[in-house]
Amino acid sequence: MAQNDLTLDTITAFAKRRGFIYPSSEIYGGLAGIYDYGHYGILLKNNIANAWWKSMVRDRDDVVGLDSAIFMHPLTWKASGHVDSFNEALIDCKSCKQRMRADHLLEKYSINADFMPLDQINAELNKLRDQNQLKCQFCGNKELTEARQINQLVRTNLGVPTKQLQEMSEEDIVYARGETCQGIYLNYKNVIDTMRVKLPFGIAQIGKAFRNEVIARQFIFRTREFEQMEMQYFLAPEMMQEKYEEWKQTRWNWYLEVLGLPEEKLRWKKHDKLAHYAKEAYDVQFNYRSLGEFAEIEGIHQRGDWDLSQHAKYSGQNLEYFDQKQNKRFIPHIMETSGGLNRMVFAVLDAAYTNEDLGEGKTRVVLKIKPALAPVKVAIFPLQKDEKLQGKAREIYLDLRSEFQSEFDDSGNIGKMYRRQDEIGTPACVTLDYQSLEDNMVTVRDRDSMKQERIAIGDLKQYIWNKINA
Ligand code: ATP
Repeated sequence: MAQNDLTLDTITAFAKRRGFIYPSSEIYGGLAGIYDYGHYGILLKNNIANAWWKSMVRDRDDVVGLDSAIFMHPLTWKASGHVDSFNEALIDCKSCKQRMRADHLLEKYSINADFMPLDQINAELNKLRDQNQLKCQFCGNKELTEARQINQLVRTNLGVPTKQLQEMSEEDIVYARGETCQGIYLNYKNVIDTMRVKLPFGIAQIGKAFRNEVIARQFIFRTREFEQMEMQYFLAPEMMQEKYEEWKQTRWNWYLEVLGLPEEKLRWKKHDKLAHYAKEAYDVQFNYRSLGEFAEIEGIHQRGDWDLSQHAKYSGQNLEYFDQKQNKRFIPHIMETSGGLNRMVFAVLDAAYTNEDLGEGKTRVVLKIKPALAPVKVAIFPLQKDEKLQGKAREIYLDLRSEFQSEFDDSGNIGKMYRRQDEIGTPACVTLDYQSLEDNMVTVRDRDSMKQERIAIGDLKQYIWNKINA
């Protein structure tokens, strides 16, 4: 298989087979748009999240962290506009019964339906229908339903329900948050009062978000439960453009240097249509081989003073900032960097998955992931089933695992052991043989070059650190 032929089925099956990502509730037939992360999946996801936290919070003086609750006062979502306008229009094919997002379908005809009201969407669809152009993107049939809208907020209730679900009114409903940033806005005042921050400053958080996505058939790209990594930067409006450019550059570099994604697979997408409060918005898009297209991984958006003004209005609280130098009160403006953790995991897997031709009809699957992100950093194998050798290998393993995520494997078949580690992207494999008992040297094999070298056991930790930091 050539490198470029990665399909969605291949990466989905691989992720399951190698313990990265499982479809949720599989024994009950699954639950559409929901996935679980296995051992290697959560190790990878945590490594990405920790790398983000390090560069967004730990390495900066101007950003503080937050972990706000998934449930918020229901008025939050009224104030943010989600209750009234967080909608998606969908269309069904009358023949193959596949469901499509109206904006995605219209995009195929070069019509941008961002922020388009439902009646206009249907008018555009009708025009295409009259021209005999409108057809199902799956089966080509021309019988499609009218577009209809659903709200994407996930509704539930808290406490002891006194009514049946269908009898509940707006007041009984709480929402599973549709985006993590609202928790940041609601805590802006707490942060100002407790954290000695001054404008400009940011609040960062990693957490789950929930959306009733109409279409959820692109593996972990679009799911109904997902994780966002968001940073909201509060500033005086006159600083917006300068800081916006800075953050765009910072985030771009992060994708190259920390996630290790190839630059030619990344691009900026400028929003042609903006929310009424926004001034400028760009998305970072990644070219997913298995989706066959560039798709959004993170949004970097200017949001003006809309969010805090809305929450001030609905809560009745004063959310102004007092600038001592200028002796002036104002509502800070906000720019955000809003990325999807799951889409990053997907991008890393998609870019790293390699089916390598080894010649003589042999191939291997290897995950050429950045060593710093690899779920397992080192694997230790005793070459023979010998008590002394196994004991020494285990001793090394226990020592290494205090510093690195490590694995011990004495199942015996060296070819299989290497293959397993290649597939999960382990940068270094260490083998011990009888000679090791004599000279305290081990053989280290590099994942990518498959080159082997003898090194002293005492140098192993430094060798692995060098790989991680390379
Ligand atoms: P899209 O246009 O793809 O639906 P969006 O513009 O609605 O995404 P935002 O609301 O800007 O997305 O959310 C910020 C980030 O959260 C996105 O860049 C993406 O990485 C992630 N994200 C949004 N929706 C989902 C989802 N359903 N599944 C996984 N990640 C998501």
